[in-house]
Amino acid sequence: MFKKDVWFVKVTGDQALVKKINKSLVLHTVRKHFPLSRSSVSVMTGLNKATVSTLVAELCEQQLVIEVGPGQSSGGRKPLMLHFNNMAGTVIGIELHVKQLSAVLCDLKGDIILVRDFTLEHHGLAYVLDTMKELIADLISVAPSTPYGTVGIGIGVPGMVDEQGILLFAPNLGWEMVELQQILETYFAIPVTLDNEANAGAVGELNFGAAQDVSHLLYVSAGSGIGSGIIIDGKLYKGARGYAGETGHMCIEADGKPCSCGSRGCWELYASEKTYDTSLFKLPAHNTQDLIRCAKQGDIEAIRHFEQMGKYLGVGVTNLINSFNPELIIIGGALSEAEPWLATSMNAVVAERTLPYHKQQLQITFSKLGSRGTMIGAAFSSVMSFLGSIRITL
Ligand SMILES: [Zn+2]
Repeated sequence: MFKKDVWFVKVTGDQALVKKINKSLVLHTVRKHFPLSRSSVSVMTGLNKATVSTLVAELCEQQLVIEVGPGQSSGGRKPLMLHFNNMAGTVIGIELHVKQLSAVLCDLKGDIILVRDFTLEHHGLAYVLDTMKELIADLISVAPSTPYGTVGIGIGVPGMVDEQGILLFAPNLGWEMVELQQILETYFAIPVTLDNEANAGAVGELNFGAAQDVSHLLYVSAGSGIGSGIIIDGKLYKGARGYAGETGHMCIEADGKPCSCGSRGCWELYASEKTYDTSLFKLPAHNTQDLIRCAKQGDIEAIRHFEQMGKYLGVGVTNLINSFNPELIIIGGALSEAEPWLATSMNAVVAERTLPYHKQQLQITFSKLGSRGTMIGAAFSSVMSFLGSIRITL
């Protein structure tokens, strides 16, 4: 008897799990490919029509899927089309830069509804936290009315993050062990996801940018430092403890300049905004935006500096290509906007130094999402976390 009871409980558990997986499959199929008829969902998921109908009815009741006027008929009655209800809720995506706080309010499809930028005067923790809270509260207050309201806040930060959402170390902010996720969750009572800005950027490119349908991607975020988001087999690779991708501290000059990390000759000392203060050229400005403006006007020192950075970007990118054999490399972050002056020298180094087999079917491009990639990726992580937490009713 006892054994049978146990067995019975196990079956129920499995049924609940199977239903949860199937419902999630139907939801994400509609989310990715809408508009779809019920029979198309059945074909695409391999689930029978009765199961699809039951699950769709539940998703409609939960307002995550909506039915919209008749679609094309393949003979017979025209089917009602299913749409993902991208306005079932809203999410907020934030990128904490060294000198700026940027935020977007997005719908559940990742489309931007509102953008906010705020210049930070310094990196004092209390000041930055207060500013962040104000920015989030402002976006929540102006968000359009939706069935679920603002369902998540995703944040990309310039530092290492652990699985508990603690910002362990952000050298460019001088922050250590900040429980950012918990602080904001407690304050707003809304789920918060926290990730390294390069990881968030990679997720943004994978879902909305240049990397859709790419399985092996390296997203190199070049700005105040360099970090990389690594996608292997379609999944973000975080390493054993979540700290993978600190490529900015990959050594490219054995006896090079000393770095704040304790090593020498780190990549970001030669190919990020850190070069502006040590440039061999007489730079007309010491920030990327102004340097780009000068380069556009033909300033030879600014152009030469970018070309030099492009060369060093190429050295690091070559190491990454030889290590990971990716399909696609995307250069993102603030420096992606200097593409016209970085690309030629970077590509020349890569072409000259990369192993021949690794070059086959490899593409290198600059981010199409520009400086918004991280925010959109962070917002998307919140969407996924919300949709994954939707209650399954049996
Ligand atoms: Zn270093």
